[in-house]
Amino acid sequence: TATVESFKFEAEVQQVLHLVIHSLYSNRDIFIRELVSNASDACDKLRFEAIADPALTADGAELRIDVSVDPEAKTLTVTDTGIGMSRAELIDNLGTIARSGTRKFLEQLGASQKADANLIGQFGVGFYSAFIVADRVSVETRRAGSEEGWRWASDGSGEFTLEPAEGLARGTRITLHLKEDAQDYLQSWKLRSLITTWSDHIAFPVTLPKFEDGKPTAERETVNQAAALWMRPKSEITDEEYQAFYKHLGHDFNEPLAWTHNKVEGNQNFSSLLFVPAKAPFDFQFNRDERKGLKLYVKRVFIMDAAEQMLPAYLRFVRGVVDSDDLPLNVSRELLQNTRQLDKLKSALTRRVLDLLDRVASDDAEKYAGFWREFGGLLKEGIAEDHGNRERLAKLLRFASTRSEGPEDRMSLDDYIGRMKAEQDAILYLTADGWNAARNSPQLEALKARGVEVLLLHERIDEWMVGYLHEYAGKPLKNVAKGELDLDKLGEPADKAEREALKESAGDTVKQLKGVLGERVKEVRVSDRLTQSPSCLVLEEADMALHMQRLLKAAGH
Ligand code: ADP
Ligand code: MG
Repeated sequence: TATVESFKFEAEVQQVLHLVIHSLYSNRDIFIRELVSNASDACDKLRFEAIADPALTADGAELRIDVSVDPEAKTLTVTDTGIGMSRAELIDNLGTIARSGTRKFLEQLGASQKADANLIGQFGVGFYSAFIVADRVSVETRRAGSEEGWRWASDGSGEFTLEPAEGLARGTRITLHLKEDAQDYLQSWKLRSLITTWSDHIAFPVTLPKFEDGKPTAERETVNQAAALWMRPKSEITDEEYQAFYKHLGHDFNEPLAWTHNKVEGNQNFSSLLFVPAKAPFDFQFNRDERKGLKLYVKRVFIMDAAEQMLPAYLRFVRGVVDSDDLPLNVSRELLQNTRQLDKLKSALTRRVLDLLDRVASDDAEKYAGFWREFGGLLKEGIAEDHGNRERLAKLLRFASTRSEGPEDRMSLDDYIGRMKAEQDAILYLTADGWNAARNSPQLEALKARGVEVLLLHERIDEWMVGYLHEYAGKPLKNVAKGELDLDKLGEPADKAEREALKESAGDTVKQLKGVLGERVKEVRVSDRLTQSPSCLVLEEADMALHMQRLLKAAGH
């Protein structure tokens, strides 16, 4: 008699289980997506490992995913012929939270424990979603290349059991004992509609039993196209298919904002399908270094997540797939880093993303404004990091100005230039510590009096960014707080005569001020800058802007 061992779930697993079961009830269909997608990952992994060790697939069993139901036993089963799991992998993968993302998610959640479905979807509830619909789950699995099979079982209430299992085929079989209120998943039409929605982009055959008189028969049929979505012609792919693929790829409940699908043939052959999410993932700010979401395939075989090698850091919001026909199947991370081919690929992909954003910006300003709210700051990073694409990036920037209703009322540099006065030869901007500081800056008074529009760069990153952006569309960018502004050129203020008289009479005051301030200032002069405030500090052209000086001081310089 075989021994059955009992194990306790890691504390965090129980927490996740609880959250998943209680927050996702109204989204419970997702369990099938998660299980089919794990089965697909398992097939991907086997195909990849078999490159180095062909013996793993020597038995010739086709890579596939079968979904079955047993109305009598009230079970739903997902079977794959993928990589399978060893005993240790079963314990690690299904009993602990191996993924750092999940841990971070729980930390983020903190005491509130109020997770909405959207949030949970983003970190990928994965396997545990089975417990939304099942009161008992068993996993039978044999790892490719091993003779040992194992059975894992749990009712999701804190413990799982493990025992050896005889006669298993390679791969994994997951059996859900459906809850009383989840029996509709046994029905043919329900399964079919779910599986076709979620599996059309899966690159392996997904099969269902044929039904007769409402009962499953032994005959099976393949319900998906079983071809990598990105390899199919664009004209044959529906928006729904693209969206479903994105949700699978990006672990996102939301529809993507936009996508671009391309096939390149020439001295480099590759296909790419790139998505811009509508919303930043919950952990986006925290995960600056963990760059996932761009998958590298070589000739349809998944090789690795390789966002770092394929896109610049400032485009880390992009999700997608790149499938190369030229790279070797056994390409390693190290090799990728040193491949000239990859530099070209990277710049081609960067262009695709920037073109896509440009298209969204010109087709649908509101949609683009939504993108900007989520990811605009990253394009500002791009200005500093990507010299070659600076002009294209600058075209995509959005700023508020002295004409804006509020900080969210933004415009492009092209909009600004279109409104510039004929005599104005530079794009004028002011940097400041925040919206109100920018808006109320005395530096703007003389310009306002002359009806000159000024961009208000009031975000932290702006000062740094603008240091890399010296001109756009042939027009220099000029900080209105630096050096002399040729105000006469920009028209006369309403009170010109008064000012002339004032300058005459202010000679003594200026002398006095110089005496008092002494070495602390270079010069005191009567200025045309102000209309309301009595005085302001002005830097010389070569000085660092005030804001930057403050930043450096704050940082301890
Ligand atoms: P994720 O898929 O995001 O890693 P899941 O919770 O869906 O998270 O799955 C956890 C882990 O369990 C997977 O990473 C994988 O190692 C393992 N696993 C789940 N399902 C299978 C399967 N059908 N075959 C092999 N391994 C699996
Ligand atoms: Mg998964």
